[in-house]
Amino acid sequence: MDDLSRAVDEALMSDLECPVCMQYMVPPIKLCMNGHSICSKCKESIQCCHTCRATFTEIRNVALENIARSQKYPCANRRSGCLELFSIEHIGKHHAACVYGKLKCPFHLLKKCSWNGFKNDLKEHAKAGHRDCFYEVSAFYSNLYEDRICLISYFGELFVHYKRIQDGRMYCVVQLIGTSSEASKYKCKFTLSAKNGIEHIIHTFLVHGNSEGLETIFNSGKYLCLDEAVVRNFMVRKWVKLHIELSKVE
Ligand SMILES: [Zn+2]
Ligand SMILES: [Zn+2]
Ligand SMILES: [Zn+2]
Ligand SMILES: [Zn+2]
Repeated sequence: MDDLSRAVDEALMSDLECPVCMQYMVPPIKLCMNGHSICSKCKESIQCCHTCRATFTEIRNVALENIARSQKYPCANRRSGCLELFSIEHIGKHHAACVYGKLKCPFHLLKKCSWNGFKNDLKEHAKAGHRDCFYEVSAFYSNLYEDRICLISYFGELFVHYKRIQDGRMYCVVQLIGTSSEASKYKCKFTLSAKNGIEHIIHTFLVHGNSEGLETIFNSGKYLCLDEAVVRNFMVRKWVKLHIELSKVE
Protein backbone atom coordinates (compact mmCIF):
# COMPACT_ATOMS: atom_id res chain seq x y z
CA MET A 1 0.00 0.00 0.00
CA ASP A 2 1.44 3.39 -0.96
CA ASP A 3 1.18 6.51 1.19
CA LEU A 4 -1.69 7.84 -0.84
CA SER A 5 -3.80 4.71 -0.41
CA ARG A 6 -3.27 4.99 3.31
CA ALA A 7 -4.30 8.64 3.39
CA VAL A 8 -7.43 8.11 1.30
CA ASP A 9 -10.17 6.03 2.83
CA GLU A 10 -10.76 3.75 -0.16
CA ALA A 11 -14.10 2.40 1.06
CA LEU A 12 -15.41 5.88 1.71
CA MET A 13 -14.19 7.08 -1.65
CA SER A 14 -16.02 4.26 -3.42
CA ASP A 15 -19.25 5.37 -1.68
CA LEU A 16 -18.63 8.78 -3.18
CA GLU A 17 -18.36 7.41 -6.72
CA CYS A 18 -21.39 8.01 -8.88
CA PRO A 19 -22.69 4.56 -10.00
CA VAL A 20 -23.25 5.87 -13.52
CA CYS A 21 -20.23 7.99 -14.50
CA MET A 22 -17.86 6.65 -11.80
CA GLN A 23 -16.68 10.20 -11.03
CA TYR A 24 -16.62 11.42 -7.44
CA MET A 25 -19.92 13.05 -6.56
CA VAL A 26 -19.95 16.61 -5.30
CA PRO A 27 -22.95 18.38 -3.74
CA PRO A 28 -25.80 18.40 -4.63
CA ILE A 29 -26.05 14.61 -4.41
CA LYS A 30 -29.62 13.42 -5.10
CA LEU A 31 -31.36 10.16 -4.19
CA CYS A 32 -33.64 7.64 -5.89
CA MET A 33 -36.88 6.47 -4.21
CA ASN A 34 -34.91 3.66 -2.57
CA GLY A 35 -32.05 5.80 -1.33
CA HIS A 36 -29.34 5.27 -3.95
CA SER A 37 -27.21 8.31 -4.66
CA ILE A 38 -26.43 9.86 -8.02
CA CYS A 39 -24.39 12.83 -9.18
CA SER A 40 -26.31 15.87 -10.39
CA LYS A 41 -24.96 15.58 -13.93
CA CYS A 42 -26.11 11.99 -14.40
CA LYS A 43 -29.47 12.68 -12.78
CA GLU A 44 -30.21 15.08 -15.63
CA SER A 45 -29.37 12.54 -18.30
CA ILE A 46 -30.95 9.28 -17.13
CA GLN A 47 -34.57 8.46 -16.32
CA CYS A 48 -34.28 5.91 -13.50
CA CYS A 49 -31.85 4.58 -10.92
CA HIS A 50 -28.96 2.54 -12.33
CA THR A 51 -29.09 0.20 -9.32
CA CYS A 52 -32.83 -0.42 -8.74
CA ARG A 53 -34.70 1.21 -11.69
CA ALA A 54 -36.71 3.43 -9.29
CA THR A 55 -37.30 7.07 -10.18
CA PHE A 56 -35.25 9.91 -8.71
CA THR A 57 -36.42 12.36 -6.09
CA GLU A 58 -35.37 15.92 -5.32
CA ILE A 59 -34.16 14.76 -1.89
CA ARG A 60 -30.49 15.38 -1.21
CA ASN A 61 -28.17 12.95 0.51
CA VAL A 62 -27.05 15.52 3.08
CA ALA A 63 -24.93 13.08 5.10
CA LEU A 64 -22.96 12.06 2.02
CA GLU A 65 -22.68 15.69 0.91
CA ASN A 66 -21.13 16.53 4.28
CA ILE A 67 -18.71 13.65 3.94
CA ALA A 68 -17.87 14.82 0.42
CA ARG A 69 -17.07 18.29 1.75
CA SER A 70 -14.78 17.00 4.48
CA GLN A 71 -13.04 14.47 2.25
CA LYS A 72 -9.68 14.94 0.56
CA TYR A 73 -9.82 13.79 -3.04
CA PRO A 74 -6.94 12.28 -4.96
CA CYS A 75 -5.95 14.04 -8.15
CA ALA A 76 -7.48 12.55 -11.32
CA ASN A 77 -3.92 12.12 -12.62
CA ARG A 78 -3.08 9.79 -9.78
CA ARG A 79 -2.23 6.94 -12.14
CA SER A 80 0.24 9.17 -13.96
CA GLY A 81 2.00 9.92 -10.67
CA CYS A 82 0.29 12.85 -8.91
CA LEU A 83 0.01 11.90 -5.25
CA GLU A 84 -1.61 15.08 -3.98
CA LEU A 85 -4.95 15.30 -2.17
CA PHE A 86 -7.40 18.18 -2.35
CA SER A 87 -10.68 19.31 -0.89
CA ILE A 88 -13.69 19.63 -3.20
CA GLU A 89 -13.23 23.40 -3.60
CA HIS A 90 -9.60 23.10 -4.63
CA ILE A 91 -9.47 20.02 -6.79
CA GLY A 92 -10.89 21.70 -9.90
CA LYS A 93 -8.19 24.37 -9.84
CA HIS A 94 -5.52 21.78 -9.20
CA HIS A 95 -6.65 19.66 -12.17
CA ALA A 96 -6.24 22.66 -14.42
CA ALA A 97 -2.66 23.11 -13.27
CA CYS A 98 -1.52 19.58 -12.43
CA VAL A 99 1.81 18.76 -14.06
CA TYR A 100 0.73 15.14 -14.42
CA GLY A 101 -2.27 16.18 -16.47
CA LYS A 102 -2.29 16.98 -20.13
CA LEU A 103 -2.66 20.47 -21.43
CA LYS A 104 -3.11 22.05 -24.81
CA CYS A 105 -0.37 24.17 -26.33
CA PRO A 106 -1.27 27.86 -25.74
CA PHE A 107 -1.10 28.36 -29.52
CA HIS A 108 -4.27 26.32 -29.89
CA LEU A 109 -6.06 29.60 -29.14
CA LEU A 110 -4.84 30.89 -32.48
CA LYS A 111 -5.77 27.53 -34.05
CA LYS A 112 -2.09 27.21 -34.93
CA CYS A 113 -1.17 24.11 -32.95
CA SER A 114 -2.86 20.89 -31.90
CA TRP A 115 -0.18 19.72 -29.46
CA ASN A 116 -1.62 18.17 -26.29
CA GLY A 117 0.82 16.83 -23.74
CA PHE A 118 2.34 17.02 -20.28
CA LYS A 119 3.29 20.37 -18.77
CA ASN A 120 6.87 19.17 -18.39
CA ASP A 121 7.12 18.60 -22.15
CA LEU A 122 5.62 21.93 -23.17
CA LYS A 123 8.93 23.77 -22.98
CA GLU A 124 10.62 21.41 -25.44
CA HIS A 125 7.61 21.59 -27.70
CA ALA A 126 7.61 25.40 -27.65
CA LYS A 127 11.35 25.48 -28.33
CA ALA A 128 10.96 23.23 -31.34
CA GLY A 129 7.60 24.32 -32.67
CA HIS A 130 7.29 28.00 -31.78
CA ARG A 131 10.87 29.20 -31.77
CA ASP A 132 9.97 32.68 -33.02
CA CYS A 133 7.68 33.20 -30.05
CA PHE A 134 9.76 31.49 -27.37
CA TYR A 135 11.95 33.43 -24.94
CA GLU A 136 14.41 32.26 -22.30
CA VAL A 137 14.93 35.65 -20.71
CA SER A 138 13.05 37.53 -18.00
CA ALA A 139 12.76 40.74 -20.02
CA PHE A 140 12.18 41.32 -23.73
CA TYR A 141 10.41 43.52 -26.25
CA SER A 142 7.35 42.48 -28.15
CA ASN A 143 5.52 44.37 -30.87
CA LEU A 144 2.05 45.21 -29.60
CA TYR A 145 0.68 44.63 -33.09
CA GLU A 146 2.28 41.23 -33.60
CA ASP A 147 3.09 37.88 -31.94
CA ARG A 148 -0.25 37.49 -30.26
CA ILE A 149 1.05 34.72 -28.02
CA CYS A 150 4.54 34.04 -26.75
CA LEU A 151 6.02 31.63 -24.26
CA ILE A 152 8.65 32.56 -21.71
CA SER A 153 10.80 30.06 -19.88
CA TYR A 154 12.45 31.56 -16.82
CA PHE A 155 12.79 30.99 -13.04
CA GLY A 156 12.34 27.29 -13.90
CA GLU A 157 8.75 28.11 -14.87
CA LEU A 158 6.79 28.63 -18.06
CA PHE A 159 4.82 31.79 -18.70
CA VAL A 160 2.46 32.68 -21.52
CA HIS A 161 2.04 36.22 -22.75
CA TYR A 162 -1.20 37.01 -24.61
CA LYS A 163 -2.10 40.06 -26.56
CA ARG A 164 -5.46 40.87 -27.98
CA ILE A 165 -6.74 43.85 -29.94
CA GLN A 166 -10.47 44.29 -29.74
CA ASP A 167 -12.83 47.22 -30.24
CA GLY A 168 -10.01 49.75 -30.36
CA ARG A 169 -8.34 48.50 -27.19
CA MET A 170 -5.23 46.43 -26.59
CA TYR A 171 -5.11 43.81 -23.90
CA CYS A 172 -2.02 42.12 -22.46
CA VAL A 173 -1.89 39.32 -19.94
CA VAL A 174 0.85 37.12 -18.50
CA GLN A 175 -0.07 33.73 -17.12
CA LEU A 176 2.05 31.12 -15.39
CA ILE A 177 1.53 27.52 -16.43
CA GLY A 178 0.64 26.61 -12.87
CA THR A 179 -1.73 27.43 -10.04
CA SER A 180 -2.84 30.92 -9.09
CA SER A 181 -0.94 30.76 -5.81
CA GLU A 182 2.30 29.83 -7.60
CA ALA A 183 1.60 32.58 -10.11
CA SER A 184 1.19 35.22 -7.41
CA LYS A 185 4.91 34.85 -6.60
CA TYR A 186 5.64 36.66 -9.87
CA LYS A 187 4.86 40.04 -11.27
CA CYS A 188 5.06 41.48 -14.72
CA LYS A 189 6.01 45.03 -15.61
CA PHE A 190 4.81 46.42 -18.93
CA THR A 191 6.55 49.53 -20.24
CA LEU A 192 5.86 51.60 -23.31
CA SER A 193 8.36 54.33 -24.10
CA ALA A 194 7.85 57.13 -26.60
CA LYS A 195 10.47 58.07 -29.16
CA ASN A 196 11.11 61.38 -27.36
CA GLY A 197 12.40 59.49 -24.32
CA ILE A 198 10.15 61.52 -22.04
CA GLU A 199 6.77 59.80 -22.15
CA HIS A 200 6.32 56.38 -20.64
CA ILE A 201 3.47 54.16 -19.63
CA ILE A 202 4.40 51.71 -16.91
CA HIS A 203 2.05 49.17 -15.39
CA THR A 204 2.83 46.27 -13.09
CA PHE A 205 0.50 43.35 -12.43
CA LEU A 206 0.72 40.06 -10.61
CA VAL A 207 1.00 37.09 -12.93
CA HIS A 208 -2.15 34.96 -13.26
CA GLY A 209 -2.34 31.17 -13.04
CA ASN A 210 -3.41 29.27 -16.14
CA SER A 211 -6.35 27.70 -14.31
CA GLU A 212 -7.92 31.15 -14.54
CA GLY A 213 -9.40 31.33 -18.02
CA LEU A 214 -8.62 34.37 -20.13
CA GLU A 215 -12.22 35.56 -19.77
CA THR A 216 -11.95 35.39 -15.96
CA ILE A 217 -8.77 37.44 -16.12
CA PHE A 218 -10.34 40.01 -18.44
CA ASN A 219 -13.25 40.28 -16.01
CA SER A 220 -10.88 40.74 -13.05
CA GLY A 221 -9.49 43.98 -14.48
CA LYS A 222 -5.96 42.90 -13.52
CA TYR A 223 -4.23 43.15 -16.86
CA LEU A 224 -2.82 45.79 -19.15
CA CYS A 225 -5.52 47.50 -21.17
CA LEU A 226 -4.72 50.48 -23.37
CA ASP A 227 -6.65 52.54 -25.86
CA GLU A 228 -5.35 52.21 -29.40
CA ALA A 229 -5.38 56.02 -29.59
CA VAL A 230 -2.97 56.14 -26.65
CA VAL A 231 -0.81 53.36 -28.04
CA ARG A 232 -0.44 55.13 -31.38
CA ASN A 233 1.64 57.84 -29.68
CA PHE A 234 4.25 55.21 -28.99
CA MET A 235 4.46 53.93 -32.51
CA VAL A 236 7.77 54.01 -34.33
CA ARG A 237 7.59 52.79 -37.94
CA LYS A 238 4.51 50.58 -37.38
CA TRP A 239 6.13 49.17 -34.26
CA VAL A 240 4.90 49.63 -30.76
CA LYS A 241 7.61 48.15 -28.62
CA LEU A 242 6.16 46.86 -25.41
CA HIS A 243 8.82 45.99 -22.87
CA ILE A 244 7.88 43.03 -20.70
CA GLU A 245 9.77 42.26 -17.53
CA LEU A 246 9.05 39.33 -15.28
CA SER A 247 10.35 39.29 -11.74
CA LYS A 248 9.75 37.64 -8.39
CA VAL A 249 7.59 39.36 -5.82
CA GLU A 250 9.89 40.21 -2.91
ZN1 LIG B 1 -22.55 10.59 -12.41
ZN1 LIG C 1 -32.05 3.10 -6.66
ZN1 LIG D 1 -2.46 16.35 -9.79
ZN1 LIG E 1 2.30 24.28 -29.99
